[in-house]
Amino acid sequence: MYDTMNLRNMEIHYNIVDSNLFQSNEADGFYMNSRDLELTKELWQKLHDTPELSGQETKTKAILKEYLTNYTTLSVVETLDYLYAVYEEKDQPTICLRADMDALPDGAGGVFHGCGHDGHSAALFLGALCLERCRQEGRKIGKRVILLWQQAEETGEGAKRACPVLERESVSEIYGCHNIPGYPLGEVLLRKQVFACASKGLILDLHGKQSHAAYPEQGINPGYLIAGIVNKLPLWCKDHKKGLTMASIIEIKVGSENFGISAGDGRLCLTLRAHYQKDLEALTETISAYAGQQAEASGITVEVSETDAFPDTVNDTELTEKLEQSCIEHALPYTYLPKPMRWSEDFGWYQKKCRGVFFGIGAGEETPGLHTESYCYPEALLEKAGTIWDTIIMH
Ligand SMILES: [Zn+2]
Ligand SMILES: [Zn+2]
Repeated sequence: MYDTMNLRNMEIHYNIVDSNLFQSNEADGFYMNSRDLELTKELWQKLHDTPELSGQETKTKAILKEYLTNYTTLSVVETLDYLYAVYEEKDQPTICLRADMDALPDGAGGVFHGCGHDGHSAALFLGALCLERCRQEGRKIGKRVILLWQQAEETGEGAKRACPVLERESVSEIYGCHNIPGYPLGEVLLRKQVFACASKGLILDLHGKQSHAAYPEQGINPGYLIAGIVNKLPLWCKDHKKGLTMASIIEIKVGSENFGISAGDGRLCLTLRAHYQKDLEALTETISAYAGQQAEASGITVEVSETDAFPDTVNDTELTEKLEQSCIEHALPYTYLPKPMRWSEDFGWYQKKCRGVFFGIGAGEETPGLHTESYCYPEALLEKAGTIWDTIIMH
């Protein structure tokens, strides 16, 4: 759906950095100004220079807390797994805006912000500044707002751990967003229903029996079972599947570099991925059942375990249309994605508890792909992402 593409030329409201306010159209209710943006860029730089792995984001949380307490009067709640700020308006429904904050390992043993969560965290701070200004000016927005910064998105764990916030704060709508390279900078990327794939890590540990390499028939080598599974994966991924279903080989290990021994132990690690949770579960079941049967027939024991589970990210249609309407009214460029994203997001955990929308924001057509070593969150995207948060807050 490209009928709003021409609106890209109409981004007049937010591009004037030299005036005190970006614009003073009261009807729009935007409050972002150049000082807000400078503070946010400064915050982003600090977060960018302090990348921390999933579950270890203590310094990151401290920086965010410092900015929230120094520059807003919003109350801040901090736990071991997340940090959130509360904008109060009595007897009003509560919406939640969520950002993530963890970084990734790079190829050289270091840590870097290869997914742009530094930008996500900083952009949400613009939402806090917008709410602070509403508060100072006594302007009512007809809702309570929870700004949630969660940890450990990359492992699929963080959102699960932050889910209790939804109930505690009576959240009725939740919004999250990810920057997506390859799309025009600032373009809002929408999808009704499935936005991103469900995925999981599947591990099969196989224990057969080692033997002399000259007498492999005296042992039980799990290599054949692993090969059998690997060969069948393409077929299983197609069989009776409603949407895209994939299996990527992550690790295969049988025995060790010892040429006198026919291997007794083996390990197969796969990442399974599907547009629909049901297809993912069906594939898991097929692989586990086949491994179980074959193992039993050949005298191998098999342990199946799962890790890094992400649910599918499924958007509420009505809220997605509401967000589309906001984009139209505020002349924000947007488009509907033709297919769900192949990657996974732990935001789906929230959507199992409460209605929500996860959307993308274009990070620029030339920006390197997420998780690549040359990727960096584009600083110019902060303002655009903040504008979308402001739009959701004020709409
Ligand atoms: Zn990532
Ligand atoms: Zn990410």
